[in-house]
Amino acid sequence: MTIDYKGKKVLIRVDFNVPLDSEYKITDDTRMQKALPTLKHILEDGGSLIIMSHLGRPMKKKNEDGSINVEKFTLEHLVGHLTDLLGVVVKFCPETVGNKATEMAANLEKGEVLLLENTRFNEGETKGDADFAEKMAALGDVYVNDAFGTAHRAHASTTTVAQFFAADAKEFGMLMDAEVTNAEKLLHHSERPLTAIVGGAKVSDKIGLLEKLIDFVDNVIVGGGMAYTFMRAQGGVTGNSLVEEDKIDLATSLLAKAEAKGVKIYLPEDSIVADKFAPDAATKTEDSNNISDGWMGLDIGPKARAVFAHVLNDSKTILWNGPMGVFEMEAFAAGTKAIAEAVAQSTSKGAFSLVGGGDSVAAVNQMNLSDEVSYVSTGGGAMLEFLEGKELPGIKAIRG
Ligand code: AMP
Repeated sequence: MTIDYKGKKVLIRVDFNVPLDSEYKITDDTRMQKALPTLKHILEDGGSLIIMSHLGRPMKKKNEDGSINVEKFTLEHLVGHLTDLLGVVVKFCPETVGNKATEMAANLEKGEVLLLENTRFNEGETKGDADFAEKMAALGDVYVNDAFGTAHRAHASTTTVAQFFAADAKEFGMLMDAEVTNAEKLLHHSERPLTAIVGGAKVSDKIGLLEKLIDFVDNVIVGGGMAYTFMRAQGGVTGNSLVEEDKIDLATSLLAKAEAKGVKIYLPEDSIVADKFAPDAATKTEDSNNISDGWMGLDIGPKARAVFAHVLNDSKTILWNGPMGVFEMEAFAAGTKAIAEAVAQSTSKGAFSLVGGGDSVAAVNQMNLSDEVSYVSTGGGAMLEFLEGKELPGIKAIRG
């Protein structure tokens, strides 16, 4: 961060969209923890903080009479914990913009912290409304965006608001900067061979990513449910495995495109198959292209694990998006675990590894390996769009 924050009122967009229990207690504060370095840096530099965030989807889950469910979605639930984390008493403003917000922002002293009400209580937020954004902008002297998780949305507090600040009065926070730097390293400055691991449930969720990857990686490892659509594209028999019939042609053309470009696609030779989608299902190991009638592939098998680990061992750059199986169930977690360990081991030998996308991040955390990969992204959808080569509005708004 390069701005001198001394004496400045800093309007900052963070992602405090944390999960709450039925008594509105925070059950996982990771997102708040991730924003702390930037918040503390600004306070230590002599600035004051005017914090904006969304929480949940209040416009989609209104009360029966059509009003906003303030009790459920208010950011006031976060005040106590944020006060503890920062060591500064956090003031709360029960509106995002308006007379009260203007007055509280104007009276804010150096080193003080003001948390504004949920940005999504305002119709203009998700529409990227300029009037609403201008009112938010008027509260601060400078603007900082540290909410990478929402950088792919052209919302008022993540994107439109930036246009009301001069180029030298807006910048990324440290989290946003780290996300962008690591993704750009992978896309533009990667050492070879570069291997992408793509897993998860469906091909249809990852089409954009797969198409883009074939343009610039050396190897693609495909696991998870989507592998069976590829198996069918090669004429395999897949029993009850998850197959998107309408994506078989697409899988065929992706395989052909990869071959034409010299990109190697690794599909799982064998699978752990189950007689039902349940933790206590009967299981056995079968070839992925010859699965018995009535059985379904729910994890990659031992041969696939060994081949994939070998490819990863020889890789200098690794991108991982999506689990290799239904890792939430112990019986089908071994494949994802083996791949997580192989990524960690390759990293320890000097490879650069980026784990991006919700479920592979959860898997790496569950296996306590998050410190053993190079970077774990916080932004699922945003990271996916970035890697697909799309220009994210929240990034463009700052960089121009
Ligand atoms: P995604 O959000 O696309 O990364 O998908 C993650 C989900 O895919 C997880 O909840 C996994 O349980 C699920 N998944 C992984 N492998 C399979 C499989 N072979 N069959 C069905 N679901 C799977």
